[in-house]
Amino acid sequence: MTRAAPTTVLIAGAGIAGLTAALAFAQRGFSVAVFERAASLEEAGAGLQLSPNATRILDRLGVLPALAATAVAPSRVVLRRGSDLREIGRVPLGEAGLRRWGAPYLTAHRADLQQALLGQVHKHPGIALGLATPVTGLDLSGGKAAMVMDDGKRDGLLIVGADGVWSPLRHQVDPAASRAFSGHAAFRSTVTADSRAGQFLAGAGERGSVTAFLHPAFHLVAYPVRAGDSFNLAGFMASREPSTGDHDGLAGRFADALARTALRPLAQAVPAWSVWPLHTVSSSRWTLPEGAALIGDAAHAMTPFAAQGAAMAIEDAERLAAAVVARPDDLAAALAAWEDERRARVRRVARRGALNRLAWHAAGPVALARDLLLTLRRQESFAADLDWLYGYDAEAGSMRVHASEPS
Ligand SMILES: Cc1cc2nc3c(=O)[nH]c(=O)nc-3n(C[C@H](O)[C@H](O)[C@H](O)COP(=O)(O)OP(=O)(O)OC[C@H]3O[C@@H](n4cnc5c(N)ncnc54)[C@H](O)[C@@H]3O)c2cc1C
Repeated sequence: MTRAAPTTVLIAGAGIAGLTAALAFAQRGFSVAVFERAASLEEAGAGLQLSPNATRILDRLGVLPALAATAVAPSRVVLRRGSDLREIGRVPLGEAGLRRWGAPYLTAHRADLQQALLGQVHKHPGIALGLATPVTGLDLSGGKAAMVMDDGKRDGLLIVGADGVWSPLRHQVDPAASRAFSGHAAFRSTVTADSRAGQFLAGAGERGSVTAFLHPAFHLVAYPVRAGDSFNLAGFMASREPSTGDHDGLAGRFADALARTALRPLAQAVPAWSVWPLHTVSSSRWTLPEGAALIGDAAHAMTPFAAQGAAMAIEDAERLAAAVVARPDDLAAALAAWEDERRARVRRVARRGALNRLAWHAAGPVALARDLLLTLRRQESFAADLDWLYGYDAEAGSMRVHASEPS
């Protein structure tokens, strides 16, 4: 396909994937139109850990300064047993992580990230954002890519489906794609640092940390957000697929599980847990050669046990724009190369998430062996184990690790 000048990239969805893609394409000279179903971009979701592979891209896109006002740079990840709060492992972040991976590890509220992305989008004259504009499909007939909305069609160079787990575009790219409940639910809450729950966490030494409390029945991750004024709590437990009517019962089951451990004071102090069924998406096709690509959760929603769903969406977006620019005269080849590269990376990340879940929910002798292994492990070795993930430089499409840190 020959292209004389950049033409419009059409994006469905103004979540993390869609807004990052808008910036990545606009920065490379494309005009971009984003269509979002919601009438306003409100506070959806809760906290996010943003690892260096993601923040490196956000920095390049000019998003970090706005995010810095509210994001927190934790000094470490600490693994603790939920049964007695004993520390069994730690990964140094903060300055050590910055030196090692070349970009910060941050924790932030999802709404703060979305606002920071949106701020950059509004500054860019090449990006048009349409709210309350649901995309209903795509049309690739006649060799042209078009996005279909209630009120008509819009032609473009490329259609990007960044429309999340429930993506209506996905079935047009891969009719055999499936979405399934993962067998786990998430339980989320945000507590202020000066609340009883916040004081319990600070008292356990967790003010500047990402802490994962591990237990056979659940794991709970706590970290500071909103400039340290609040803690985000995200717990995970095996569950049947919750229907809306089940939420109170499930939240009660989760609080009961916490209350049977050393986290009892936290269980008593957290006023409410919101329940999030965790879905995964499996699709054997993320692109169509005529000009369509699915990115982020629309393509490959995964369980959050490696805390990488948003990071993969950000990487997808950056690498897609880079791939299209690298093959300006052959969009089909660009999309095929992008999909090959991204599949390998996303598969590896999903495997890491599955491994984390097994290790963190281990019971009996397996948990004892895990604790022994982790306790004996040097911090340097924990960090080195994450180099392939956090050291990834999406601009170069390769890994970069800056320094090895003494433990
Ligand atoms: C409990 C939990 C904890 C998590 N923790 C982390 C973490 O620590 N780190 C991390 O990296 N990831 C984490 N994730 C994953 C992360 O939240 C998601 O992977 C990420 O938000 C996906 O972004 P997205 O833009 O692909 O999809 P979404 O955020 O779902 O955005 C999709 C957008 O498309 C819009 N849309 C939908 N349909 C249409 C349509 N027809 N037309 C137009 N617009 C449409 C939606 O309104 C929405 O704005 C976590 C997830 C959960 C559930």
